[in-house]
Amino acid sequence: MKYIFLFVMGMMAVCALGRTQVVAHRGYWDCEGSAQNSIRALVKADSIGCDAVELDVWLTADSQLVVNHDPSIQGIEIETATMQDLAEVRLKNGEALPRLDAYLDSAMALKIDLVVELKPHSTPEREDLAASEIIRLIGERGLTDRTTYISFSNHAVKYFADCTDNPVYALTSMAPAELIALGATGADFNLSSLRAHPEWVEELKALGLPINVWTVNAPTDLQWCLDQGFDFITTNAPETLLQLLNQ
Ligand code: MG
Repeated sequence: MKYIFLFVMGMMAVCALGRTQVVAHRGYWDCEGSAQNSIRALVKADSIGCDAVELDVWLTADSQLVVNHDPSIQGIEIETATMQDLAEVRLKNGEALPRLDAYLDSAMALKIDLVVELKPHSTPEREDLAASEIIRLIGERGLTDRTTYISFSNHAVKYFADCTDNPVYALTSMAPAELIALGATGADFNLSSLRAHPEWVEELKALGLPINVWTVNAPTDLQWCLDQGFDFITTNAPETLLQLLNQ
């Protein structure tokens, strides 16, 4: 029943939006004063008209959530560090390592949607703790309707699918039947996987499962994805994609 409901909602959303959505990968960071996964990159992505921002989330040893791509930053492994250990860390633009709650506080004032990636953690239990805390922080800020969850961890995908009615997309490329078995409501696959499996693209479209493609940067690749009618394109070059969409 939930699957049918999500399918209908997804189709309505796609019809309502009517065009490929621009997802700024780690925010809009390739510009003055910005940095990957910074709050500035979130604000910048919103300011140029991106539909969504993608961000990566880790759980610290003292069960706090921070926004960063790699498992470690400036030599400090996030999963085994406390917030105090990370207090002096600065991003390339001078910002402190963003706490997820502060990042979400900033998002509340903006229009941009959120594509929240939970990174694979050391144990399923830590992924459950991280996911439940992410859901809580999103919910208490009224951001639930603007959020999609993604992960390379199939365990985390299943957790988000079981515990929310949000869109949940798997990052690990797999056949649509496996995707559905996992509980995912869409595919978030890399460009080479989608190029290698045109039958998956057809099947996903026939099933009404949205397709997000990552990480597409070259203009010719961006245009190819637009021609394929993918629902979302995750890119480090959001301005180029917006220009192509407006042509
Ligand atoms: Mg990511």
